[in-house]
Amino acid sequence: MTEIYQSDYLVIGGGIMGLTTARALREKFPSASITLLEKEPDVAFHASGRNSGVLHAGFYYSADSLKAHFCRAGNEAWRDYVAKHGLRINDCKKVVVTQSEEELPTLHELFRRGQANGVRSTSGRPDGLVMRTSCTDPSERSITSTVT
Ligand SMILES: Cc1cc2nc3c(=O)[nH]c(=O)nc-3n(C[C@H](O)[C@H](O)[C@H](O)COP(=O)(O)OP(=O)(O)OC[C@H]3O[C@@H](n4cnc5c(N)ncnc54)[C@H](O)[C@@H]3O)c2cc1C
Repeated sequence: MTEIYQSDYLVIGGGIMGLTTARALREKFPSASITLLEKEPDVAFHASGRNSGVLHAGFYYSADSLKAHFCRAGNEAWRDYVAKHGLRINDCKKVVVTQSEEELPTLHELFRRGQANGVRSTSGRPDGLVMRTSCTDPSERSITSTVT
């Protein structure tokens, strides 16, 4: 006989999306029953447990996009979460460099997007960074993001 299991909310997939969705549901509806289905033996088995671990700053996305908005908001939310729960974070900067002069317009566009998206960025080569590129103007060859 088929057993019928009832739940107020059913979340499928125990990656970061499923887990944070289930967590948000729990916070919003404390008395609701929430079921999370995961096909693997544990959560975060795929992309969420095997990614590069970069907390993206948000300068790749065009400024008026939802991606840019959520990237920025998510960056701040993760930082708050990490601080609140005493977790470790590598609070490093990100350096974006060009390989050739032809790439300078793209670099400038990323810098512009970063500024529009509220990412703390500086242009110019950071102290101590050695770069070997064919660009003629070394001061233009990189941007540094302080929110990564
Ligand atoms: C190589 C790589 C590097 C990345 N680096 C970064 C990074 O540095 N920073 C960053 O922010 N993002 C990074 N990302 C992106 C980020 O990891 C993903 O966007 C994010 O993990 C996606 O989460 P998810 O929950 O949607 O998917 P997943 O983590 O893939 O979770 C989906 C879950 O659903 C389960 N599932 C699937 N089908 C079923 C089913 N029918 N029934 C039950 N369960 C099911 C899967 O087993 C899995 O556990 C990277 C991605 C990749 C691939």
